[in-house]
Amino acid sequence: MAHAEALLLRGAAALVTGAAGAAARHDATDVRLADGVVVELGRGLQPQPGERVLDATDCVVTPGWVNTHHHLFQSLLKGVPAAIDLTLMPWLQAVPYRHRGAFDEATLRLAARIGLVELLLSGCTTVADHHYLYHPGVGHDAAEILFDEAARLGLRFMLLRGGATQVRQVEADSPPHLRPETLDGMLADLERTVQRFHQPGARPMRRVAFAPTTINVSLRTDELKPAACAARALGVRLHSHLAETVSTIEQLREVHGMTPVQFAGEHEWLGPDVWFAHLVHVTPDEQRLLAATGTGIAHCPQSNARLGSGVAPAPVLARLGAPVSIGVDGAASNEAADMLSELHFAWLVHRAHAGSRSRARPEGDGEAGADAVTANDVMHWASAGGARVLGFDGVGTLAAGQAADLAVWSLDDARFFGLHDPGLAPVVSGARPTLKWLLCAGRVVAQDDRVPGLDLAQLRADARAAVRRLMEG
Ligand code: ZN
Repeated sequence: MAHAEALLLRGAAALVTGAAGAAARHDATDVRLADGVVVELGRGLQPQPGERVLDATDCVVTPGWVNTHHHLFQSLLKGVPAAIDLTLMPWLQAVPYRHRGAFDEATLRLAARIGLVELLLSGCTTVADHHYLYHPGVGHDAAEILFDEAARLGLRFMLLRGGATQVRQVEADSPPHLRPETLDGMLADLERTVQRFHQPGARPMRRVAFAPTTINVSLRTDELKPAACAARALGVRLHSHLAETVSTIEQLREVHGMTPVQFAGEHEWLGPDVWFAHLVHVTPDEQRLLAATGTGIAHCPQSNARLGSGVAPAPVLARLGAPVSIGVDGAASNEAADMLSELHFAWLVHRAHAGSRSRARPEGDGEAGADAVTANDVMHWASAGGARVLGFDGVGTLAAGQAADLAVWSLDDARFFGLHDPGLAPVVSGARPTLKWLLCAGRVVAQDDRVPGLDLAQLRADARAAVRRLMEG
């Protein structure tokens, strides 16, 4: 991989900073980068000795996106016909659980590579992967594989160490690969993984979080507090799925007499070091509790729509001050891992949702909804918002001293011709502009829609062979 060169990006038509509100745009056309950080933003900057100039004329520059919830192994489980129209629980049974035994070292590595390449080509430079294929005697080191694949592509990677100490109903009579771990076994592996991979600092390339798959089912209730305490003692953040569908509400009400966020709070699973995927079904009280405790959301609108789960109140959470980020979720419930299509959908779905709640006067307040979420809001969630949720303080915004993680988008397709504000293109146009350059930590990790050194035809052939094996398995 290339080193972090001294670079001067010149002539951009629009520059999206990743910050919120009025600071979402910068009037600079040029960005100077050195030693993996942004040195200077300005207009008419002149190249210094040793700097390579990247011509960004007519291009849009955005921060590299931060994906805060994913399951890379599912990159080989897209569009399984038997489950394409199922809701979460039957889908889990028919896809991830049905096929998880097939994910040996080679299959996991291939799936991870596919998912990471997809994300990279959508402008993503930081990936948090919720990996939960753990069982006693698993036979391979998933952390080693996943960190290695991300490093080969030059991406920042956070392993959200999933798993369970008890199995769901759907996993009764489980074969060995579906058996649960002990909490001691899980925490011992977490500690080893943290010691090996977890980097301190504001711009880490590698981080680890503790992420039992779904807190209300994956751990015994009496394990939740000690597990959170042990993870915090290791200095890592906490993550899990929560309140994805109404069945979560039913389960928690029946067994514990609580709402999901209440349950999390009861067991010390709320705070600025915690973020949950989904949070689709949360009451106004729960929304306020999330905001008051600084607990974040990985908002996964496409997966939530695909599974018929609902629309999470991400705009309300953002208004209340809770950290909001974007996750594409696994490709088995999204059929892709594309940050731009996720942003486009996030931009639209909240407007549609707000509009469908509007009521005619005099009974209601009349027409509304088109300002439910702005393009700048969703770009903020997908950059600075994601970095805040993951605790990558020096990542996610384009400003001096911040990481040189950025995408340069060329608007050379007819669908972008006629745009009054080119800075809107990555969100509103519904398709990916040409990725002229993607930089992570100041290194070029993609150029002209290609990943240097990657044999895409080989990857496609390997994927086809792996899907055949999975279908026969
Ligand atoms: Zn998920």
